Amino acid sequence: APIIKIEDLEKTYENGFQALKGVDLDIEEGEVLALLGPNGAGKTTLISIICGLAKATKGKVTVGGHDISHDFRKAREMIGLVPQEMSIEIFERVQANVRHSRGLFGKPRNDEYIERVLKDLTLWDKKDNRIRELSGGMKRRVMIAKALSHEPRILFLDEPTAGVDVELRKEMWDVMTELKKSGVTIILTTHYIEEAEAMADRVGVISKGELLLVEETDTLMKSL
Ligand code: ADP
Ligand code: ADP
Repeated sequence: APIIKIEDLEKTYENGFQALKGVDLDIEEGEVLALLGPNGAGKTTLISIICGLAKATKGKVTVGGHDISHDFRKAREMIGLVPQEMSIEIFERVQANVRHSRGLFGKPRNDEYIERVLKDLTLWDKKDNRIRELSGGMKRRVMIAKALSHEPRILFLDEPTAGVDVELRKEMWDVMTELKKSGVTIILTTHYIEEAEAMADRVGVISKGELLLVEETDTLMKSL
């Protein structure tokens, strides 16, 4: 069974704007899926609904078999979200911050897991630094470590390389390639076709609230 199942999902905001129109999508465990589309296409809206930050107007989403409108907590526990904006407490220290996040999900704060995550993200040397002292790339890694703190099986990355320079984009691609090896299911949004091509097993193209197509990356690239 797919780890995420989205059926006929629609979202109309309070001002009457329809941001999602009848989206159907199955996401398989362990795959990397890129949601590709221009600004305003509805990518963040889609992620926000799956992660419970916004409510759908219509349709059904299940995460690990849990319907998010009935079993939201169980669904949310399976998900790590790296939002678009830097929402980190810059005065806190790296390790303390990530362990705190783990605690919020009711996991033991002081076990080995966080050490492993920080080492995998090459943050271990910086574990006692304050987040504000870190480079942009390191700050982004801390956001990812936080998102992974409760051992989710699914990781959402909303525009992980929007507005960063070429060097940092490459660095983030390396980080995502490493994450993929861990077997976590990754859904990233992007408006860079090169990023979708470099990272994803499958690409979903979104435009004006519609999921126009979902295709294996190789097949899609050959058809362009
Ligand atoms: P993307 O992530 O692809 O850039 P978004 O999901 O952020 O797209 O936005 C999709 C559309 O919905 C945009 O036209 C945006 O202006 C609109 N939108 C987003 N949030 C709201 C909101 N709270 N109220 C009304 N319209 C919104
Ligand atoms: P809208 O864009 O329609 O105003 P919001 O994003 O403001 O929707 O969501 C309304 C409220 O519903 C928020 O407090 C949010 O936490 C909650 N909520 C969102 N999704 C879910 C869900 N799947 N299950 C339970 N509550 C949810």
